[in-house]
Amino acid sequence: MIHIIGGGLAGCEAAWQSTLLGVPVTLHEMRPQRPTAVHKTDRLAELVCSNSFRGDKLDNAVGLLKEEMRNLNSLIMRAADASRVPAGTALAVDRERFAQVVTELIEGHPLVTLVREEVLRVPKTRPLIIATGPLTTGTFFRDVATLIGSKQLYFYDAISPIVLAETINHSRVFRASRWNKNSQSVIGSKKTISPLDSSTIAVGCGADDGQGDYLNCPLTKEDYDLFYGALIRAESATVHDFDKNLFFEGCLPIEVMAHRGEDTLRFGPMKPVGLIDPRTGLKPYAVVQLRQDNLAGDHYSLVGFQTQLKWSEQARILRMIPGLESVEFVRFGMVHRNTYINGPTVLRETWQMKEFPDLFFAGQISGVEGYVESAASGLVAGRNAAGLVLGQAPRTLPRETAIGALSYYVANAGAGNYQPTNITFGILPPLSKAPRRRHDRRMALSARALATLNEWQIMANT
Ligand SMILES: Cc1cc2nc3c(=O)[nH]c(=O)nc-3n(C[C@H](O)[C@H](O)[C@H](O)COP(=O)(O)OP(=O)(O)OC[C@H]3O[C@@H](n4cnc5c(N)ncnc54)[C@H](O)[C@@H]3O)c2cc1C
Repeated sequence: MIHIIGGGLAGCEAAWQSTLLGVPVTLHEMRPQRPTAVHKTDRLAELVCSNSFRGDKLDNAVGLLKEEMRNLNSLIMRAADASRVPAGTALAVDRERFAQVVTELIEGHPLVTLVREEVLRVPKTRPLIIATGPLTTGTFFRDVATLIGSKQLYFYDAISPIVLAETINHSRVFRASRWNKNSQSVIGSKKTISPLDSSTIAVGCGADDGQGDYLNCPLTKEDYDLFYGALIRAESATVHDFDKNLFFEGCLPIEVMAHRGEDTLRFGPMKPVGLIDPRTGLKPYAVVQLRQDNLAGDHYSLVGFQTQLKWSEQARILRMIPGLESVEFVRFGMVHRNTYINGPTVLRETWQMKEFPDLFFAGQISGVEGYVESAASGLVAGRNAAGLVLGQAPRTLPRETAIGALSYYVANAGAGNYQPTNITFGILPPLSKAPRRRHDRRMALSARALATLNEWQIMANT
């Protein structure tokens, strides 16, 4: 028997995978007894926001991830495919039907016992999977912090958008650090919290000793006026109750800053001081700085650009910045509560804890980002937790697969500035002979991944 806490995307997938191996599960889900600020129903695997599972083609990393999960009998993919609604090349679902399918398959499964209760302390029963998501309740959160060490548990309130480096127009941006220094402070939004202050949603945006160069997008006064005008008219996403009054002076969303005055951004994240555009020899009127994401070299984040504009608005307005006209977004900015552990310090690639191998984390709390990624981590954690019951050694998937790459990232990324990730092709090992066209390269990476997964499955079953 394994125990799983949290009946969300990761917890349900983990439970399902365990039953596929014939191992019984007790799944603890607190809703409806204890609601969250965003879930609206008592159903398992409720989607809290968008109804999209993002791209569904193999030229897209999340499309590959989904295909791998289908090949591994994923419950979440089965339910998603059964509740698909038209969405072009993406996989979007009827959210009610999706959650209903998952709930029925889990509730009705003879090997699953569903317990509707809030878990307050980390139980002693093992194997155990913690999959309580970004809105893990406070009491339980404090006990997890005690178990893993409070410094390994993060709490994010504001996230800047991240773009794909190869889609930046490098002819319009210049590389430099302020005052030509190769090290400087930049605005960050992460804070580790101690178990004692975890009930407080208040989060400060501490300075972060970022190293080295920045890509700088210079704006003329005309560029700035256009950008500013669009920003103050842009549409914001809904602020959930727990997110109200949470903006701290050091990490205000850009749209909030913009509403304070026309020049507030020029004296904040868009300040041009210490920067000279080598093409003009002049200080730009304003600058947007992009910092290489420490953990995936092909990603750049917009420094100090935390925002809660609607994603479509972010795409429209941020593409007005010179150099970002055609950028592809790896992740949009967000302002919301998120609880996650420092994966590289705490976890192995099998999603077991390094220190306590019969304790697993899965889902958003394990340090991944997104519905599909959360379910994928649950898939591996569920198989491995069940494997322990059967006396099997935990396994990880090859790094060439999207699931394997995600597992590798969570366990091996730089621990110093760990940030949850979506799946991207950038975290898969490069091809030895990569086609020049991006589409062909991506298709080749997907073909390699699926062939590798196939071989791995054959080996695993022999
Ligand atoms: C406001 C908001 C908007 C988001 N929007 C998106 C989006 O549009 N697209 C996207 O891909 N991702 C989005 N995310 C991230 C999203 O939460 C994850 O992608 C996904 O839901 C994570 O799955 P999970 O299984 O880890 O957590 P969840 O799906 O949240 O599941 C965790 C479950 O654990 C339960 N639980 C919590 N604490 C306890 C406890 N102590 N005892 C028992 N049960 C407990 C909860 O009730 C919940 O059912 C959003 C997150 C937030 C907070």
